[in-house]
Amino acid sequence: MTCTTRLPKPVTDVWDWQMAGLCRGQNSAVFFHPDNERGYARAAREEKAKAICGNCPVLAQCRSHALEAQEPYGVWGGMGEDERRQIINAARRRLRARSSGHSSERYSSSTSRS
Ligand code: SF4
Repeated sequence: MTCTTRLPKPVTDVWDWQMAGLCRGQNSAVFFHPDNERGYARAAREEKAKAICGNCPVLAQCRSHALEAQEPYGVWGGMGEDERRQIINAARRRLRARSSGHSSERYSSSTSRS
């Protein structure tokens, strides 16, 4: 079942950045993989999507949303699924460490790329 608790509230101001995304009106198949896509085909499709993201005026908002919402699929904010998963998992490890007495911030951008 889809978890929607991490999604932003359904308020227009929270979602307005999406209106300026360069992916708007583009074929979503560039940003989301088909079933069983692997290897070179997947890498080539993701690079094409990331090239679009690289010129997008709302890249930062998009990336922030994808990390906060823990979007499991697609290229968002110039990041693929594996890159987001690494950042989210690292944030979880930091939170666990913090709860056991160590401190850190939530989503570090030190491992992000544009
Ligand atoms: S950063 Fe990429 S996925 Fe996000 S709105 Fe822009 S073009 Fe779309």
